[in-house]
Amino acid sequence: MGKVYLVGAGPGDRELITVKGLNILKAADAVLYDSLIDPLLLEETRPDCERIGVGKRMGLHSCTQEEIVDMLLKAASCHEIVVRVKGGDPFVFGRGGEEALALQAAGIPFEVVPGVTSAVAVPAQAGIPVTHREEARSFHVITGYTKDEALHYEQFAGLEGTLIFLMGRSNAGRITAELIAGGMDPEVPAAVIEKAFSPDQRTLRSSLGKIASLILEENVGSPAVIVVGKTAAYDLRSEAGCGSGTSRILVVGTKAFYERFRRQIPDAELLLEMKLRVSEPGKTQLIEALGRIEQYGWVSFSSQNAVRLFFGIANAIRFDRRRLASVGFAVIGQATADALLEQGYHADLMPETFTGPAMAAKLAERAGRERVLVIRAEEGNEEMFRILEEAGVPHERLVLYRAEGDCASGLGEIRPGDRIVLASASGVRALCESAGGALPVRVRYACIGGYTAKQLTKYGHQPEITATEHTAEGLARMLRGILPSEED
Ligand code: SAH
Repeated sequence: MGKVYLVGAGPGDRELITVKGLNILKAADAVLYDSLIDPLLLEETRPDCERIGVGKRMGLHSCTQEEIVDMLLKAASCHEIVVRVKGGDPFVFGRGGEEALALQAAGIPFEVVPGVTSAVAVPAQAGIPVTHREEARSFHVITGYTKDEALHYEQFAGLEGTLIFLMGRSNAGRITAELIAGGMDPEVPAAVIEKAFSPDQRTLRSSLGKIASLILEENVGSPAVIVVGKTAAYDLRSEAGCGSGTSRILVVGTKAFYERFRRQIPDAELLLEMKLRVSEPGKTQLIEALGRIEQYGWVSFSSQNAVRLFFGIANAIRFDRRRLASVGFAVIGQATADALLEQGYHADLMPETFTGPAMAAKLAERAGRERVLVIRAEEGNEEMFRILEEAGVPHERLVLYRAEGDCASGLGEIRPGDRIVLASASGVRALCESAGGALPVRVRYACIGGYTAKQLTKYGHQPEITATEHTAEGLARMLRGILPSEED
């Protein structure tokens, strides 16, 4: 018999799950999820994990609570780690309590992993603090919907704190009328936040007396949180913020590039992940070259990926690294040098500007008649070979991999005003081809370097920024406006 984890997934943004929740999700044998969670979270599960959708929305029942409990018990009988993910926190109107009771009754071990509740996070996303010094000393989370209408809202009218209604959208008329009947001032600020953390997020601000008709007029959809109280009038979002509703920074690049970039700009989102595919002829060529590595004076790496794949293949064929003792390593830039250091080697040569041609020029000075093995990706800058040829440096090209766009990601979510960060020419191709000309006009592009920018213009788009220091850090600095752009 397995163990069941009731995990809070947060309010709809996959990054708002807890570290503990995510670790459990990654280990799951079976996952039961509902419609309030970010579907991308499911990508974190193992490929062989059984994923069971039990979406349950008011009016659109896909499973009854009894069916969910049955499925949960069944899953626990045939899997070790069963995860029941729920939007927000499992015990805040999530019916997590009922599921815990059923598990208790069946004698199945379980654990509750708390989550970030929409009751607090959704108002925050709209710039509304649920408490505020002297204005709101408490907040009250209330269901806006009960089956039997047994809940009367007059009783909450006397509370001085912020009233937060979940599941209250379709009942807003009754809720607000009863609050007013209970003695609450119709002029008290009120707000409704629809589909928070999604591209369609909307916040409407009004007063207690008017919010219900505004919800109808504006056709506010589900899910939505209604906030009543002084702080509902606040908008504590940074003017320059990158959150929903304002422009976002979307990255097209490998996971490694994205991680590096995000250390500089933490709210950057990964739009299109570039995945590396090792080229089979390239791999054969590398194995053959490793067999006679002593013939080369230099190995040059055009990216951190090239470094990792090179050593990965070398390890796989049990290549003895002592044979590299007399080989010089040339790297295109700092990230590549760092990747090399991870393998225990210092780079012997790195150009001042991080481009293929600059590396080739430096190699031409240093290598002389020594043979160079050039490890690179498909679609790289061909200019470097011209430079090596002109300088008479003997060299061999080795195309080790290709970067391909993973088109499953949400390209439809690009909005006018967004900025797209392009980390390679192959990323430009993947983006433009998978969007099929459907990229919004007012999107702004930031390119890692001139070669990538050139590819972008070939597809009919102009870069807003081209980094002068061709690294994730250099591009991020430029985006923050610290360095002037080349166009300035
Ligand atoms: N356990 C969940 C709440 C489940 S009840 C939690 O702790 O957040 C479902 C209600 O949550 C919805 O009707 C809506 O009021 C609110 N909600 C959840 N996610 C939301 C989102 N992304 N935007 C707006 N409201 C949301």
